[in-house]
Amino acid sequence: MSSIEAARRYFEAAADQLELSASVRTLLLTPQREVKVQIAVPRDNGEVTTFVGYRVQHDRSRGPFKGGLRYHPEVDGDEVTTLAQLMTWKTAVVDLPYGGAKGGIGVDPKQLSTAELERVTRCFIDQIHEMIGPNLDIPAPDMGTNAQVMAWAVNQYEKYHGFSPAVITGKPLELHGSAGREEATGRGVGIITRSTCAALGKTVAGSRIALQGFGNVGLHTASFLSGLGARILAVSDVTGGVWNADGLDIAALVSWLKQNGTLAGFPGSSPLTNAGLLTADVDVLIPAALGGVLTPEIARHVRAKIVIEAANAPTLPEADEVLQHRGVVVLPDILANAGGVTVSYFEWVQNLQQFRWDLVRIREELERVLVRAFDNVWGLAQSKHVSLRTAAYMIGIGRVARATQLAGF
Ligand code: NAD
Repeated sequence: MSSIEAARRYFEAAADQLELSASVRTLLLTPQREVKVQIAVPRDNGEVTTFVGYRVQHDRSRGPFKGGLRYHPEVDGDEVTTLAQLMTWKTAVVDLPYGGAKGGIGVDPKQLSTAELERVTRCFIDQIHEMIGPNLDIPAPDMGTNAQVMAWAVNQYEKYHGFSPAVITGKPLELHGSAGREEATGRGVGIITRSTCAALGKTVAGSRIALQGFGNVGLHTASFLSGLGARILAVSDVTGGVWNADGLDIAALVSWLKQNGTLAGFPGSSPLTNAGLLTADVDVLIPAALGGVLTPEIARHVRAKIVIEAANAPTLPEADEVLQHRGVVVLPDILANAGGVTVSYFEWVQNLQQFRWDLVRIREELERVLVRAFDNVWGLAQSKHVSLRTAAYMIGIGRVARATQLAGF
């Protein structure tokens, strides 16, 4: 099943509950604009390589388009379109005044030198600068991009349009970035995990957790949750994982990874495969790496009672049905990983006001936004007897549908 078909299945389940007409469904699903551009850049050896870049602007009925830029060899039009649509529902479910967009380039950034990566980024902005802007479309980092890439992107945009830090979020602190942006997605995953445990009458302290992916999201999720007293029994990255039945020392593991470049061999741990991690004997499973990792086959063997979707689209629709049938509570990506776009919103607000917030305020505001969104989703799921995913989609899609209808055609 393609990523577009999977997203469509989740959309239709919520649209059925909302009793949306066929014409409104088509209107909401159709992206407002899809752009595909040529990025031809000289390599360090003098040869020219041509990449393809995308920007899909899905919906702006609730505010400017908002969504990341992904650099990955598998980026294609379908993936970007699906992720743009997910951004629309995500910004709506946490009630940020934004629409949804996504962009990317089909490139492996690890195969480029720093100078080549900078040229690719500047060329991409040359191609799309007229369709982005502080009140129009605000890109941010995603897989394969980071604060440095955002710094080049905003600098290139400003060559055409003058000082405009609010055109891009996820910038370095020295260039109008926000305190707390780097940790935001993982911290948000942690806040949602804590709320889920509380809603189920459990405490996060003492909960046994397995986490797939130890990059930006996984690392900050693990640090936040272990700070709350959770026991992180297993973590993994692309090379495999490590396990300790009493809980891993996350601060020591981060230092180990920095020194050795791999999780493997961490003192006091045993090795674990990624498949073994997904079916490990834990209370909470947090996929925080790739999409599509929870297949129906794996879902049948998941032992956790709670799955928190830190990654985008980690659960295939058939696997979602298996998990539901087995009584596993699944917190959907559009809510679980919305901490990043929430602090991106705070960065944009600070840039527009030309005023800085400190980390304490950022963390307080993030907590307030996510806890309110969680309570709304949980309450709707209980009252309508639907899954948390369908409830989250119902809130997001419902808000976008109402804004669209109120504005008129
Ligand atoms: P990242 O590149 O910093 O880290 C990804 C991690 O996943 C790394 O540890 C990598 O080794 C691991 N990984 C890659 N392939 C794997 C595989 N086959 N099996 C197991 N592990 C594998 O990326 P990130 O920013 O942490 O993003 C992780 C996920 O969270 C993605 O799905 C992303 O779309 C989603 N997300 C990220 C943000 C954000 O702000 N960074 C926001 C929302 C959603």
